[in-house]
Amino acid sequence: MKCSFCEYPLLCKACGQPFVARSAEAHVAMSQPDMEVYCPECQAVLACKACGYVYGESGEETESS
Ligand SMILES: [Zn+2]
Ligand SMILES: [Zn+2]
Repeated sequence: MKCSFCEYPLLCKACGQPFVARSAEAHVAMSQPDMEVYCPECQAVLACKACGYVYGESGEETESS
């Protein structure tokens, strides 16, 4: 499937495997910024290899304040 952010094919940034949402739940999670999506291959939090968008970093922005 495609990255919902950059429209490129969604590859896991950690392991490079294409992400396939195998359940309806995963599809929903993809569109919910506050839900974490995990790579089924390496169990890392899914991040798009193309644009670096992370699926599930809710409230964990590490901006220096
Ligand atoms: Zn992307
Ligand atoms: Zn992975």
